[in-house]
Amino acid sequence: RKAAQAAEGSASLELDALCCSFGADNPVVKSVDLEIRGGEFFSLLGPSGCGKTTTLRMIAGLEQATSGRILLDGAEIQDAPPHRRPVHTVFQNYALFPHLSVYDNVAFGLKERRAGAAEIEEKVSSMLELVELGGRERLRPRQLSGGMQQRVALARSLVLSPRVLLLDEPLGALDLRMRRQMQVLLKSVQHELGITFVYVTHDQEEAFAMSDRVGIMQNGELIQVGGPQEVYHEPATLFAANFVGASNTLEAKVTGSSDGHYDVEIAGLGGARIPGRGEVSAGATATVILRPEVVAIEPAEATDFHCAGTVEDISFLGAQTSVRIALPDGRSVKAEMPSRNLPASLRPGETARVGWQARDLWLVAR
Ligand code: ATP
Repeated sequence: RKAAQAAEGSASLELDALCCSFGADNPVVKSVDLEIRGGEFFSLLGPSGCGKTTTLRMIAGLEQATSGRILLDGAEIQDAPPHRRPVHTVFQNYALFPHLSVYDNVAFGLKERRAGAAEIEEKVSSMLELVELGGRERLRPRQLSGGMQQRVALARSLVLSPRVLLLDEPLGALDLRMRRQMQVLLKSVQHELGITFVYVTHDQEEAFAMSDRVGIMQNGELIQVGGPQEVYHEPATLFAANFVGASNTLEAKVTGSSDGHYDVEIAGLGGARIPGRGEVSAGATATVILRPEVVAIEPAEATDFHCAGTVEDISFLGAQTSVRIALPDGRSVKAEMPSRNLPASLRPGETARVGWQARDLWLVAR
């Protein structure tokens, strides 16, 4: 299906030392530098209160930056009023006009711009097709499910051909099933139209499923920017590692480092050379991330690290099963594997061998 309405050209977006404080001693966004490419699906990911929404609101012009610059295709926009910026925002609460039909909600902005009747008809119809609402033009918002209402809100923004679309937790009010469906739709709509999307969420799976790249925020700072794979496998810090997935952590003594690898000694488990990131001097202690899915139970082949422990818990999650093993020194290690690969003999209270490879570990500075 071809986009009936192409974007006027997606824009790149640059944040340069962008800051926002509410009052003298309440900095909420602390000098964020970020370059988002034209046509990119970019997500700001972080816990509640880290400054994601404030960053988005500064881009939209709904919040004044305390200092710093915002550039759209190289031109500064931080001082332009919101309606002069070629960006639109989709909010979590839809903000539809309840008394207007689906069609009139989507047509509203075009009418305000005094577009011709034929143009309105064509753009609204094709946009409603794109968000899979063809045939529901005459319904009122309250006659629609939450997911459909959010699609109306999306169509209403997209029909105005913004060069950047800002989305603030747009799926936050939907149930899990509907969220998953909407993620697929959002991704395909973005792909189809090629508009730059900046998406705010605290849901790592959601960000990963849709984004070309993500930026992880903590306490008003952008601590890592990268593709989902990179952020997951090569987190910049322990916070980033924990935010994008479960992990076991081990304490390691670093004896040397070169080429992005560290020679480590892990108490009770032995030494190895492992990949990682961060300034860690020889003799210092660092944290080693061990993702549950790389821990093998009763490994079939030799592994760089291995030991025996006691099965504490087996949780069947559906496709995956999570197993907690207590090691002799009191630590416990979580393993996660496809349920069909679970050794049939595994029982709580019994002994099991666990192992993992050095290349699957990742070291971060403390
Ligand atoms: P959430 O997902 O909860 O919206 P967030 O990462 O988007 O979190 P922000 O909404 O940007 O975070 O808020 C960051 C911090 O700024 C919070 O501590 C919030 O209380 C504070 N804050 C936001 N707006 C204002 C305001 N107008 N005045 C004072 N403090 C504010």
